[in-house]
Amino acid sequence: MFDKVLIANRGEIALRIHRACREMGIHTVAVHSTADNEAMHVRLADESVCIGPPSARESYLNIPAILTAATIANADAIHPGYGFLSENAKFAAIVEEHGLTFIGPTAEHIALMGDKIAAKNAMRRLGVPVVPGTDAPLGESDDPHPIADAIGYPVLVKATGGGGGRGMKVVRAPGQLREAVAMARSESKAAFNNDAVYLEKFLTHPRHIEVQVLADGRERVVHLGERDCSLQRRHQKVIEEAGSPALNAESRAHIGAIACRAMAHLGYRSVGTLEFLYEDGQFYFIEMNTRIQVEHPVTEAVTGVDLIRAQIRVAAGAELDLAQDDIGFSGHAIECRVNAESPRTFVPSPGRITDYHPPGGLGVRVDSALYAGYFVPPNYDSLVAKLIVHGRNRNECLMRLRRALDEYVIGGIETNLPLLRAIVADPDFVNGAYDIHWLESFVERWR
Ligand code: ADP
Repeated sequence: MFDKVLIANRGEIALRIHRACREMGIHTVAVHSTADNEAMHVRLADESVCIGPPSARESYLNIPAILTAATIANADAIHPGYGFLSENAKFAAIVEEHGLTFIGPTAEHIALMGDKIAAKNAMRRLGVPVVPGTDAPLGESDDPHPIADAIGYPVLVKATGGGGGRGMKVVRAPGQLREAVAMARSESKAAFNNDAVYLEKFLTHPRHIEVQVLADGRERVVHLGERDCSLQRRHQKVIEEAGSPALNAESRAHIGAIACRAMAHLGYRSVGTLEFLYEDGQFYFIEMNTRIQVEHPVTEAVTGVDLIRAQIRVAAGAELDLAQDDIGFSGHAIECRVNAESPRTFVPSPGRITDYHPPGGLGVRVDSALYAGYFVPPNYDSLVAKLIVHGRNRNECLMRLRRALDEYVIGGIETNLPLLRAIVADPDFVNGAYDIHWLESFVERWR
């Protein structure tokens, strides 16, 4: 096992990784920008190294600075968290070339899944159902019209290297197609320096259902059930549940087995998430994330498995110590993402936290790096806390979630707590009757 892990991230996920390391007897090294001198992840870690100015490009994305910090601190491994360098195959390869362990999958698997078309093609070959669409990027001089006609409108133009909901355009009629392709190309070029796009069938009423897998790279793979992440705004998740109100034990076992078989064939190692759209009883693979995800705690709540600990163990070369039969699903869990933003305009709201009272009690977990007096810097993602609630069933979970959201006090900045409270009180949410488009229309009505 590792003696010392460098955590190449910030905020709640850096704390989460630190906690897992502590419990495993592993020393931690925090890295931070000058905007994060006072951050909780820096205070809690055994050691910390400043790696640059506030801009993420010069700090949390600065590969030479991070590797220098790891070398100076004599770390054995680097945990990338989510976002930043977590799905950067080049970073994973460089870490390994420096004799350190990258806590994640191989650089090859990151690269494969980072290319959405290559990922879909690989999954299709492995017997996983995928969203209908093209199996190669659209050429510069290709006429997209016959392709879209063959798929059938509405179609979705997607960036091969996209992420975070960027580089995606819905096209409802042929007249809008060329412009949408051009817009997706330029958006993706600007965000990811990659202008490759492809076409896919746009599903009109799917749920987003993803399967959590855990593998040791020796064909031993288990799944930890699904998460329903259909509550999204601008293709970004807001509330996630385990399990999905739309699945039962049989459909869970069915899609879980498909995911495990594919991962075993690939020889995948680490945690991973296969994302599907689920419509009219059918699953359609859209992409795979090769890192720990923001919403992993709902899976931890219903399975009792510490996913970060498991991820660190397999990265250190340990065999998976769980078989599928060891994994049970107990009760229901829901996570709300608390963002520093105006609940109605969604404009980011950085600033000094004046009061901070997180909720507590049975079945309540808060993953956050906030404290009273902390200054939320304007330079990073607006996620400041995750409220995770577990109950013996969905109904108990909902009652507890409402109570916990009412208790939560974050003073000094604006947050989306008022929106979260409104969502969980809505009959559609209470009944689990929502698809990926529901939240957008709810927000329009509510604000
Ligand atoms: P990103 O990597 O940018 O997050 P994804 O491929 O994971 O992109 O898709 C994000 C979200 O966009 C999905 O959860 C879903 O809500 C929506 N989406 C993606 N593909 C489709 C599709 N073919 N039809 C309808 N919605 C889609």
